[in-house]
Amino acid sequence: GYKEALGEMASRPYKWYTAGGNTLEQNANGTAPVTDSQSGTAPDAYKDILAILQTPLVDRKSLDEKDIDELLRERKQLYVDALKKPIAEPKVAGLIRAGEKKAGNANAAILCLVRNEDLDDIIGSILELEEQFNGDFQYPYVFLNDGEFTSQFKDAILRALPQSRKVEFGTIDPELWNMPSDIDEQEFNERMEKLSGIQHADQVSYHNMCRFYSKAFYHHPLMQKYKYAWRVEPGVHFYCKINYDVFQFMQANDKIYGYVLNLYDSPESIETLWVRTLDFLKEHPSYLHEKGAHEWIRDNVQKPRNYDMTKGYSTCHFWTNFEITDMDFLRSTIYEEFMAFLDSQKGFYYERWGDAPVRSLALALFADKSRIHWFRDIAYTHFPYTNCPACPEDSTRCNGDCKPGLFVPWDNLEVENCQPTWIKYEMSQEDLDMY
Ligand code: GDP
Ligand code: MN
Repeated sequence: GYKEALGEMASRPYKWYTAGGNTLEQNANGTAPVTDSQSGTAPDAYKDILAILQTPLVDRKSLDEKDIDELLRERKQLYVDALKKPIAEPKVAGLIRAGEKKAGNANAAILCLVRNEDLDDIIGSILELEEQFNGDFQYPYVFLNDGEFTSQFKDAILRALPQSRKVEFGTIDPELWNMPSDIDEQEFNERMEKLSGIQHADQVSYHNMCRFYSKAFYHHPLMQKYKYAWRVEPGVHFYCKINYDVFQFMQANDKIYGYVLNLYDSPESIETLWVRTLDFLKEHPSYLHEKGAHEWIRDNVQKPRNYDMTKGYSTCHFWTNFEITDMDFLRSTIYEEFMAFLDSQKGFYYERWGDAPVRSLALALFADKSRIHWFRDIAYTHFPYTNCPACPEDSTRCNGDCKPGLFVPWDNLEVENCQPTWIKYEMSQEDLDMY
């Protein structure tokens, strides 16, 4: 239990000063550190956070089925209300519009990790993104692949985009992509046989991809020069016009992460992720952020089986097929140490840890939750889930191809939506009032 762990912790030196110091140094260019040095936080406060993190959100024994239904209904209503409210954009001063001097000038790129055979589907995605956003803002693209892009692929992409668009194509160093040598192939195969019901578990390339997106993409030579990345996948849809520069919005409003969809994960794929993460936190309690999204991690109400199977993690995560990331957060000492630790635990291969729960845990534990932004105005589908806001009546912003508030076409998958949980427990009044 956590009491023993705390006893052991107390005998260890706290690294709270070092962590902040390193992070500040990495940001010597004058921008605010993306992980705060909480040098004012007393060591006892970290013990309290660690104890809270190991406590279920709700004492289920104290609730009967009716109470639980009521709580879930209340959460769901918050979600429906948020998306039924006609909105167009964040209500903040200083949004940057097309044509303004700062439009398109954030240090940002659109990132597509794809294979040659993804050509048609990625063209579909970027044409919709160009129509709804990037035609006005003209951010550059980076296409990455573990293999070589064919000239047919590159030509087709260049033909699909306006001539003035900056586009770079890169291959990924095998060092950043391949299964590391400390993974035993036979053990990998045996373990994946047991996970055969889990999507993509039997494909080594999928494990490589998850590890790459967790701990490596922001080090790729073509990405190093950028601060922000907007990840785009093949076959996704954008339904509404975005009339402001989202990267400049993030920068001006101190956001380090933007997402649209928020889900529960399959617990089989991350059975030990939370337990291993706790091992790391016990070593580095001072890395914890006191304003982290702790309830979201601890929810044991909506999918109790997930919480139980992972020994204490709701499995809530931002769906990373859409993500706008401040890569300075990923490049911070704390994030990097967490990644090195997780990699050493081998769960990217002996389980099927996704980059989504990995990234999400790092954000929920090490960042101020107010720096994580739900782009509820960005209407988006990655099959089978959708974020679709209502449009003001006099607006032609949306093309009508998504239905406001409809998360998924199948009722039995409604329970996979963790955004209601996020709204109820992690969003401040200020966050709610932003739209
Ligand atoms: P899912 O959305 O979780 O089902 O996974 P996807 O198949 O969409 O893969 C996630 C992202 O990684 C997409 O952008 C894919 O194009 C990309 N991806 C997945 N596997 C590979 C791979 O082996 N090589 C390359 N270059 N890209 C990959
Ligand atoms: Mn996908």
